[in-house]
Amino acid sequence: MRLANKTALITGGNSGIGLATARLFVAEGAKVVITGRNQATLEAAAKALGPNTLALAADATDIAATAAAIGKGAEKFGKYDILFANAGIAGGTPLGAAEIATFEKVISTNLTSVFFTVQSALPHLNDNASIILNGSVISVLGIPGYSAYGAAKAGVRAMARIMASELSPRGIRVNVVAPGAIRTPIWGAAIATPEAEKAFEKRIALSTPLGRIGEPDHIAKTVLFLASDDSAHVQGQELFVDGGATASP
Ligand code: NDP
Repeated sequence: MRLANKTALITGGNSGIGLATARLFVAEGAKVVITGRNQATLEAAAKALGPNTLALAADATDIAATAAAIGKGAEKFGKYDILFANAGIAGGTPLGAAEIATFEKVISTNLTSVFFTVQSALPHLNDNASIILNGSVISVLGIPGYSAYGAAKAGVRAMARIMASELSPRGIRVNVVAPGAIRTPIWGAAIATPEAEKAFEKRIALSTPLGRIGEPDHIAKTVLFLASDDSAHVQGQELFVDGGATASP
């Protein structure tokens, strides 16, 4: 029970990495507020996670709606000890074909919304809280077609360091978990059928030194480390959880 008596907020807690993290946090004794846009998956997640969970619909790019949800969650469970700013979208922006609307949507969802989620949460965070932002290996790997996504996630790394400086006086820590390819719905058509998923897994395995795709629990367990007192002296860092993808030449 590493999170007994702790309260956590997880954006994008109704799917993939966020949902796996919510499940682990609840198992470790936390009360967990999850947000997302999809009412049906929010309700299903809340039902599966049990009574120590509150699921609230809020689009992360709608700053007022997100701030309202954050406040509502704090009213129910008390101030937060943990914030996992996890909500994000993929969204390709190939140099030869990207349109500004897509580029801006990827930036607003993966970067701007992260900044304002943290800003809105500040009055509702306990001193010594832990903030974890979700990054990506694409912030350092030159994978074609992902300029906006990679720039947003590199921005998340930079923001985390600056936020860590700004929030250290309150003892609040800010770190980034940066996943490699993880098996979640974000991959859409690439994993839509069992055959597609197998081919995708094979492709990822070939570019990953550990020879496999990552699972949501790989990230959830790392987020638990960054959220708990086990990482009490880790501040302003980025932890890659990618089977070695960024470590190989
Ligand atoms: P999923 O698609 O399974 O989950 C994405 C989550 O974000 C959903 O809960 C979704 O909820 C939420 N979300 C998306 N847009 C918004 C929005 N505008 N407002 C509120 N919630 C939103 O994908 P993952 O679990 O894989 O993604 C989680 C994070 O992990 C993302 O930040 C992603 O960039 C990052 N990541 C994932 C990798 C992977 O390979 N899976 C690799 C590297 C990083 P809803 O649909 O209800 O809005």
